[in-house]
Amino acid sequence: MQVSNALEEVVPVAVERLVAGHDHISSCEDCKSDVLALSLSKLQPGYSSTDMGRILKRLDTERAAGRAKVTVAVLAAIDVVAQNPHHS
Ligand SMILES: [Zn+2]
Repeated sequence: MQVSNALEEVVPVAVERLVAGHDHISSCEDCKSDVLALSLSKLQPGYSSTDMGRILKRLDTERAAGRAKVTVAVLAAIDVVAQNPHHS
């Protein structure tokens, strides 16, 4: 499906950028994978394919509104994973 493929390209970039900028979360692969999975699960059910198509068009051109949706989801996921890390 086109929407989830596009999200799966956009969200990992946001995860890398935001995890690197937040000292309270580990930047190990386990934590980044957890943040990515949580972010995608929050983003995918929240929009119709029509809405997501519009959002992703904005993302393509780096418009603030589309990026903000992804940023908010990733930041929320970072807080969850930082408080409940699965790494040993
Ligand atoms: Zn970790």
